Amino acid sequence: MNTSQMKADESVLTELAQAYGDEAKARELLESWRWPNGPVCPHCSNAGEKTISKLAAQGTSRRGVRKGVYFCGACRQQFTVTVGTVLERSHVPLSKWLMALSLFCSSKKSLSANQIHRMIGVTYKTAWFMCHRIRFGMTPQRWAEAKLKGTVEVDETFVGPKTKSKTPVVARVERQGLARVKVIASVTQKNLGAALCECVSKEAVVNTDEHPSYKNPLKHWKAHQTVNHSRREYQRRNPDGSKASTNTAESFFSLLKRAIIGAWHHISREHLPRYANEFAFRWNTRHDPDGKRLESLARWFEGKRLTYRQVSQPLCVC
Ligand SMILES: [Zn+2]
Repeated sequence: MNTSQMKADESVLTELAQAYGDEAKARELLESWRWPNGPVCPHCSNAGEKTISKLAAQGTSRRGVRKGVYFCGACRQQFTVTVGTVLERSHVPLSKWLMALSLFCSSKKSLSANQIHRMIGVTYKTAWFMCHRIRFGMTPQRWAEAKLKGTVEVDETFVGPKTKSKTPVVARVERQGLARVKVIASVTQKNLGAALCECVSKEAVVNTDEHPSYKNPLKHWKAHQTVNHSRREYQRRNPDGSKASTNTAESFFSLLKRAIIGAWHHISREHLPRYANEFAFRWNTRHDPDGKRLESLARWFEGKRLTYRQVSQPLCVC
């Protein structure tokens, strides 16, 4: 991290410290992250300065105007900074949300709902739901999801308790770059092919282990290199000097598994995709200072909603 980055990070952290006990300041901070160029209506995308007005708060009664409400003259609807994000309709004060977010962004591993419950002073049930909302917010945004390119390592692993059936997870990791992770129903040609199509550029050189299900789908890619793990081959130097290996994908998995053991203990199959995404988010922002990670996370919340019903009665996603 260079000096100017450190200074910028320090100033974000100072602002955060002030916002922890001050709801107005917390709202201001979230607004500045979501709308760096002034408020944008989440209903109609109107960003006209002259057509958006801030309504003055009138008391705290249910009928009065709440704090931080804007009125859009274009669609004649009201909105706040949380409308159209994972924070929408939350009864938790924004200052507590900021605390939870900065805890998530400053810890190298993950946090359990129990830690959030104790550290920010909300009930366990609330903390549990907050954690799921934050994880859901960490899912890559469509606009941020450029296809992986260069040399991309693809590998699969199984996550779950030893005694029960384990869930397959596939990682697609750019060497020295970004990672995407996906929970799949089973390791088949069809599922691996779909996982590849989803986010790996056809121009990429794809490295996998010798699993036979990769062979057919990868005929459509520029190049496919394999390492034979059953023969204890983990890295092979090609004639052109490049290396065939899946070591980056494997270190991604070993960190993911350590996080599961360290902080989450047991994860049900239904919730696994959100945990896996949280982990990919950490991996992809690993070189960012904490403050920058927090800002990008707040921006990723845009356009996402997760209701309590969705997490408490989840549908199997795979
Ligand atoms: Zn509008």
